[in-house]
Amino acid sequence: MTREPQREVDVAIVGAGFAGICAAAGLLRDGNRDIVLLERASSVGGTWRDNRYPGCQCDVPTALYSYSFLPEPQWSRTYALQPEIERYLQRAVSRLGVEPYLQLDTEVLEARWDEASARWHLRTSRGELVARVLVGAAGPLTEPSLPDIPGIDAFEGEQMHSARWRDDVELAGRRVAVVGTGASAIQIVPRIQRDVERLVVFQRTPPWVLPHRDRPVRRYERALWRRVPVVQRAARLSAYWSREALVPGFTRRGMILRVIERLARAQLARQVADPGLRARLTPSYRVGCKRLLLSNEWYPAIVQPNVDVVTSAVSRMRARSVVAADGSEHEVDVIVWATGFEVADSPISQRVFGRGGRSLAQAWRGSPSAHRGTMVHGFPNLFLLVGPNTGLGHNSIVFMIESQVRYLRDALRTMRRAGIVAIEPCERAQRAWNEQVDERMARSVWTTGGCSSWYLDDTGRNSSLWPGASWRFRQLLRRVDLAEFEVVERAPATSAPLSRHPG
Ligand code: NAP
Repeated sequence: MTREPQREVDVAIVGAGFAGICAAAGLLRDGNRDIVLLERASSVGGTWRDNRYPGCQCDVPTALYSYSFLPEPQWSRTYALQPEIERYLQRAVSRLGVEPYLQLDTEVLEARWDEASARWHLRTSRGELVARVLVGAAGPLTEPSLPDIPGIDAFEGEQMHSARWRDDVELAGRRVAVVGTGASAIQIVPRIQRDVERLVVFQRTPPWVLPHRDRPVRRYERALWRRVPVVQRAARLSAYWSREALVPGFTRRGMILRVIERLARAQLARQVADPGLRARLTPSYRVGCKRLLLSNEWYPAIVQPNVDVVTSAVSRMRARSVVAADGSEHEVDVIVWATGFEVADSPISQRVFGRGGRSLAQAWRGSPSAHRGTMVHGFPNLFLLVGPNTGLGHNSIVFMIESQVRYLRDALRTMRRAGIVAIEPCERAQRAWNEQVDERMARSVWTTGGCSSWYLDDTGRNSSLWPGASWRFRQLLRRVDLAEFEVVERAPATSAPLSRHPG
């Protein structure tokens, strides 16, 4: 039996969402056409393809939540709805010339670094692939998280996670439970409340909810953006810097947090008349400790007569009902789990094996960390987009993605110029980076604000967010400094052997 020759590419990118498409476009701009963009689903869009729940909308202004190099003058709202962002990414793939390099319906099952050949060996749902460089762009908010609740499988009604919305489940006229009060739940509830017979909202921890400044984009604004693109760029810059102004608040618990809390309390007082309910909806932790939520419709929806707010966690399920930790039992027909994502334990960490056959999960032991949020000691030529400590609580993740893609491009150019086959951060550099991150994090509201959140991993460390200004992150990733890396070089004029030494 003859084996098919293994396909080999220079760069394999995993995940065709905002990050993967950005990486592919950047490499193409550098003239590297030896790339493939692998996507497990049948279409592109990542989180904006998967999250299709009613009301799904970006909570970062659209002027900012798009590629800096691909402005879109046609947005219909100042904060775009999910279908529009998904369409933007679908069009981006063709407008940026990425389409020919896209391979859909291909799930990466395993990626192993082979030291002898200095290549990544990928096993996918559609065969094997070899790549010199592996770019992980699968995103941290990818795998739905369902709470480990006794009896969850015994429920005889219908259930779905917010990120796996089922259009075949009828909600109109039925009794529905929504579990969770995070960014997803507060968008879903106002959209379904009017249609359902009864809605039971399970709130374990109340969120801080600020007034939302979302509005339709006016026709003249769209025309202006189309004809005078610099005006849209100015709107982008203004949105960017107004958000950056919040950084000292988050990282050093500045005065601004008190101002934000006052705004949120004023909205709560305006929209919820019942003092008992108001007290149950008032957070006891500092604003910003969990993600800040924006909505004008959340409180007006949950005070409606067909809504019960149960201020208790779900503790068990029965065939037709949900039991809360406070002992109350609620009969429902449908459950919507708006319970977030597996962030620290993402499947990609179990599937990527570096030097010595060690997986990312083994290297991280429940607490992801990386050098400059992007590369990991022991995992040569692996670049993680939206990697450890690159998330933002205050600004657009697209800015961080673009910063990391610049770093990736600089790394590949530097390697090419210096005849380097593989690089990985040395342990010392990675440790120093993370010590600085942890030191800055220690003073932040995410650590000291008195809440628990998905930002914190199993060890209690915040391995999700970048504790500083996003422009500073970009600065720190401007150039690859080979002194921070161990490099594998191919001796000139020979094809072997490979020699490893500190850079
Ligand atoms: P999330 O913020 O992790 O919220 C999960 C919710 O489920 C929390 O309220 C949590 O309560 C609750 N929960 C978990 N287990 C529970 C249980 N056993 N009983 C009762 N409640 C339980 O998830 P998410 O709302 O999907 O948002 C995740 C992230 O996705 C956001 O932070 C944001 O970054 C992103 N997102 C963005 C947008 C956008 O507009 N751009 C929209 C949606 C999501 P506790 O608070 O007590 O843990």
